[in-house]
Amino acid sequence: MSALESNQSTVMPGATLGMVGGGQLGRMFAIAAMQMGYDVVVFCGSADEPAGQVATRTVVGDLLDHAVVSQFAKQCQVITLEFENIPAETIRWCSEFAPTYPSHHVLATAQDRLVEKTTFRDAGLAVTPYAAVDSAAGVGEFAEQHGWPVIVKTARSGYDGKGQYRLDGPSDAAAVPWETADAWIAEKWIPFEREASVVVARSTQGEVRCFPPFENDHCNHILDVSFCPSTLPPAQQQLATTIATRAADVLQLVGVLCVEFFVVDAETLLINEVAPRPHNSGHLTIESCHTSQFAQHVRAVCGLPLGSTELRVGGAAMANLLGDLWSVDGQGPRWDQALAVPSVSLHLYGKTDAKVGRKMGHLTATSDSAADAVATVRQTREKLE
Ligand code: ADP
Ligand code: MG
Repeated sequence: MSALESNQSTVMPGATLGMVGGGQLGRMFAIAAMQMGYDVVVFCGSADEPAGQVATRTVVGDLLDHAVVSQFAKQCQVITLEFENIPAETIRWCSEFAPTYPSHHVLATAQDRLVEKTTFRDAGLAVTPYAAVDSAAGVGEFAEQHGWPVIVKTARSGYDGKGQYRLDGPSDAAAVPWETADAWIAEKWIPFEREASVVVARSTQGEVRCFPPFENDHCNHILDVSFCPSTLPPAQQQLATTIATRAADVLQLVGVLCVEFFVVDAETLLINEVAPRPHNSGHLTIESCHTSQFAQHVRAVCGLPLGSTELRVGGAAMANLLGDLWSVDGQGPRWDQALAVPSVSLHLYGKTDAKVGRKMGHLTATSDSAADAVATVRQTREKLE
């Protein structure tokens, strides 16, 4: 931990926290922070964004408008963010007014898949085999070494599977819109057994705690269902938390980091990517852990003691609610049907525009076992379809 980041004094409840970004992660952070007695100022593009709706107040503007960013930042004792694709420059401006976590260095690493993978590979952590590419010929060379399929992604600005192309052979490379991005990465397609993630918190005081690993099912490259405890054997759970802790150390992270893994076999875990913020796979912590990932984020950036990450229940599962569930005229599903299942909690993010693939909310079920929670949450969501 750098001298700058250690020994920061504790920012006590009553202070004002700044959140850059108005999405659902900012919303759930604000709810957790306000529950603990903080005021939260959200910097967003419009006051009716999910986090803006629940904040103490908002500052509305463009992330690249220095004057408005300054006006936001000077109100805050600590500043954090909910989305890694915020310009690193914006975060550097914020840090001139108040301690800002994660730092713009962490952001610059996490927002570029090439820099991120190189950082972890150089630190001795296993990542998916990759190379920078900019043409069909480049992908061809990569495939000669690693075989098909290859997955090509934009190096920057991708999320929820956006900007990703699976190529099964040389002829597919023509489908990649090479001219639409400055930098591309080719990755070996990993025929993983399963996907898992670990959310780790690292506080301004240097305290570190991991949540137990979550197991994740994706649909069309978008997270669909997460559950905990995972089916990973105990030794592999231990390995995943050790790697996540190491990743947070390598980045000198303060705040919360999610490390996404491909579980290749009983011995092999590869880092897919990291997100220096609370993560969709950790939403189930709200109902199922002593401390939610959002409350942990507040504690970490304020220098408070970190809370217990242990499960309070035998098992928990979360299912995302995408805009696909809404009818074409924007009518939402029958939420009363979901809530008729007593172990299910409903979260809606306050988004009015229900687009296909857009995350609108989620359901969480708790039970005696993860398998039971998964069955319940899936069945409940099916009732809404
Ligand atoms: P995003 O930033 O959109 O979350 P990811 O790199 O995590 O991007 O990709 C989303 C999902 O797509 C992954 O969780 C996984 O299911 C699938 N995927 C991505 N890269 C690979 C790969 N190299 N091999 C196999 N599946 C992949
Ligand atoms: Mg991902």
